[in-house]
Amino acid sequence: MSDLDEPVQPERNTPSADPVSADGFFRDIELSGGEFGQLVECATARLVSFLESLPDQPARDTENIEPVLRLVDEPLPSEAVSANEILNLLFEDLIPKSFNTTSPGYLSFIPSGGLPQSAVADLIAGTVNRYVGVWQAAPALAQLEATVVRWICDIVGFPASAGGFLTTGGSLANWSAIVTARRCRLPEDFLKGIIYTSSQTHHSVAKAAMLAGFPERNVRVISCDERFRINCHELREAVENDRSEGLTPFLIVGNAGTTNTGAVDDLEALADLAAAEQLWLHLDATYGGFFTLTERGQAILKGMSRADSIALDPHKGLFLPFGNGALVVRDAKALSDTHRLDADYMPAMQQAEARVDFCNISPELSRDFRGLRLWLPIKLHGIDAFRRALDEKLDLIAMATAELKTIDGIEIVAEPQLTTVAFRLNRPGLDEADLNQLNREFLDRINADKRIMLTSTILDGRFVLRICVLSFRTHAKNIDDCMEAIRTAAVD
Ligand SMILES: *Cc1c(COP(=O)(O)O)cnc(C)c1O
Repeated sequence: MSDLDEPVQPERNTPSADPVSADGFFRDIELSGGEFGQLVECATARLVSFLESLPDQPARDTENIEPVLRLVDEPLPSEAVSANEILNLLFEDLIPKSFNTTSPGYLSFIPSGGLPQSAVADLIAGTVNRYVGVWQAAPALAQLEATVVRWICDIVGFPASAGGFLTTGGSLANWSAIVTARRCRLPEDFLKGIIYTSSQTHHSVAKAAMLAGFPERNVRVISCDERFRINCHELREAVENDRSEGLTPFLIVGNAGTTNTGAVDDLEALADLAAAEQLWLHLDATYGGFFTLTERGQAILKGMSRADSIALDPHKGLFLPFGNGALVVRDAKALSDTHRLDADYMPAMQQAEARVDFCNISPELSRDFRGLRLWLPIKLHGIDAFRRALDEKLDLIAMATAELKTIDGIEIVAEPQLTTVAFRLNRPGLDEADLNQLNREFLDRINADKRIMLTSTILDGRFVLRICVLSFRTHAKNIDDCMEAIRTAAVD
């Protein structure tokens, strides 16, 4: 009998006292409990050193990236690689080559830091692999997620009729809001429908409108006042004008914290206008919404609770890791009217209103158990811990702004409304093009100080620098570091 004829014995996955070989190889894709524990332990050890070394890590390291790219440019592997080798690759080579979004000195874009408590929730959720899209499949866990959504509705001041769902981020929350408003307010042939935004609205809204089937000509971009808030007078005129042309105004998208400067539109005025004109009012509160947990935030966001729908990003305002957005809607029925479809292979859906089948009120069917990522940190710490952290960020930006004003040549272009300040160097005698160049170089000099990372934007043609404080890890010391870097760069 040749070797080829010998019947192949399936390898027996015999449990042993030491199931994982010393070199970190696992025998089978089906890990024993002990093997899983060892894998998690190996990963946890790396994560602990990662977290402990954060204060000394640079806020950005994206130089000399080519050799690192080659490490992950490979054909489909057929051979097993040891856990240690894989973790080394991740933690030593790949992860450090990034914008360090976990760094306390990361003051770029809209930071949040990423509470690692949520990663523990993900480990649990992924391991028990429960299905929360259908209530019946995991009633208590679907209820847990529904409760988390209820908490968000309560935070924004929505009535008992409200509902919503968790998304992967603000972009998809804005998209679902536009689709919901479209299906509730417009006929099937919806191309007369007009959407109103401002010059400061995040581009995810225009993208969402496009993906919801609206051509660019259906989106109005209204100008802003000197504090970068929508010009309500111009908005009213645009609505009247569109109506007189036979178009159908149906949706205003207001800003509750712009990405550029954290500007908050006059939400009361928008709600008044929406009510008078019977328009759907959606608020992009992805950055700003959770500041309503604080007294100062509540004052700025007054009127938010009068919206028809609100997009929020727990991965910004509640410091969660990326992948956590939310859409809440004043009238939960709007969501089921928009998303509900039946299929023969699906289990029975719930009739009782209190029992939510998330697949019936949102675009997704199979998905991760997102609710746990929010629930776990909020249960571990209580919401007051988040309130205090947000309050501290408001203090820090006030401190940073006061300090900026003491630096020669700095012009504050946008005073903070939430936790973002926009500023630039202004030197007499330079035209705008030269000033923009000066400030590009200024930003590069600041960021050469690796302890912090700032980003820029354009405001009315002016290149400006931004400090956005939102990471739970950012404290006064990091603002001091930032100011030192700015002072040094300003005199160069
Ligand atoms: C971040 C942000 C978005 C996009 O949200 P993602 O979670 O990144 O998809 C939309 N609007 C504003 C104001 C934002 O700050």
